Amino acid sequence: MIKRPFFALTQPKLNYDSVEPDPKEPKSIPIPSNLILLLDEPIDSIKKALIKKGNAVEKGEKLSLYSESTEYAISPVKGTITGIDTYSDNFGNSSTYLVIKSDQEKTAQTDTITYDLKDNIASADEYLRTLPGAPPLKILANDNLKINTIVITCADTDLLSTTHQYVSLKFWDALKQGTQILKKITKISKICVTIPENAKIQGGLDSIPVFKTSLAYPSNLPAMILKNNLNMILPAGKTPEDLGVCFITAEAVVSLANAYKTKSAGFEKILTVIGKQGTQYRVKATIGTPLHKIFKAFSILVNDQDRIVIGGPMKGFATYTHHHPVQADMDTVMIQDRDILPEVSDYPCVNCGKCLRICPVNVPVNILVRYLEADLYEEAADKYDLESCIECGLCAYVCTAKIPLYQYIRLGKHELLKLRADV
Ligand code: SF4
Ligand code: SF4
Repeated sequence: MIKRPFFALTQPKLNYDSVEPDPKEPKSIPIPSNLILLLDEPIDSIKKALIKKGNAVEKGEKLSLYSESTEYAISPVKGTITGIDTYSDNFGNSSTYLVIKSDQEKTAQTDTITYDLKDNIASADEYLRTLPGAPPLKILANDNLKINTIVITCADTDLLSTTHQYVSLKFWDALKQGTQILKKITKISKICVTIPENAKIQGGLDSIPVFKTSLAYPSNLPAMILKNNLNMILPAGKTPEDLGVCFITAEAVVSLANAYKTKSAGFEKILTVIGKQGTQYRVKATIGTPLHKIFKAFSILVNDQDRIVIGGPMKGFATYTHHHPVQADMDTVMIQDRDILPEVSDYPCVNCGKCLRICPVNVPVNILVRYLEADLYEEAADKYDLESCIECGLCAYVCTAKIPLYQYIRLGKHELLKLRADV
């Protein structure tokens, strides 16, 4: 069972945090000697691999496992591949990790490879999927999805995180340029932006509509933005893309602007780091940097059995290794001390009804969880609204019996997809 990642010492507030009015520069983490890149494709020992241990790589080089692969990583450094192995995520999905030993001196002296970037979505998708902020170019390039609306989110989706507010505040001009680039390469004219209601952002966004989102959690989740700002209800089991709407973060849009300006990829990811005492830090780290390098930079000691959580207190998931790398879509990282981990129990539901009262979409969580505990995923979906859940984590936050409800739901949805794929 994946453990509930709630922050133990100070309970999460149920209002989003706001970025400071005049934030200082993020702490820059030096490029480490070994970087780890994740490739969303499993190793297939039957196929002939394009990359192998000992290969030299250039800064900005596109790396794919096989000639027919559609997934790729981009090397942030000039160096040598020293490891290729299987990576398994919390749900048991397999992908591949590459270890790249950086040639520090040459990386500093060498320019990043430039790309023949054209003003169309296929060209952007060919090179820029792994930019900081992970722009959803694969989705936008998929003709079958028929995306007709793009929502740029300057508001952060989880509590305690201020990554996207910081990027919007500091790089508003680049955000404007990126928005125009998005319009040009996708040919989608309906683009809007969400910002927190108290954001102090100077200037508008030309003709782009700006929606203000409430500070109350979970108003920045896609399903809530669809409902509150776009007047659209997300049907059970559907994604925003199914409705023709694609969400993209402020950081991804700024990265796109920079990439089109330099014709090359950027690698520096902004993250909010939440330490053991709840202190928030902001860092800039190269994609592929192992997380322990970040903790070390803030003198945060990582002990055996401490819990490292990718994401914020409501929606994050624990990782089992402090070698886990910074990824393009990683906005927040938390560490919880082993001696004050939040309580999770195997006690049965006491029928207090708190989860029912707090759920924004009226899922009968207390009954649903009984089906999930019994691995009855189809019944959970058909009778108890498993697929209506918008994954806010509020039910688990209030649960009297400390049942890891959110983790049961995420696992249940994953198992349901697998079951349906097997039919
Ligand atoms: S995570 Fe819990 S509270 Fe949130 S939508 Fe899903 S069932 Fe409801
Ligand atoms: S909050 Fe927890 S204990 Fe209370 S009804 Fe919901 S599942 Fe049961």
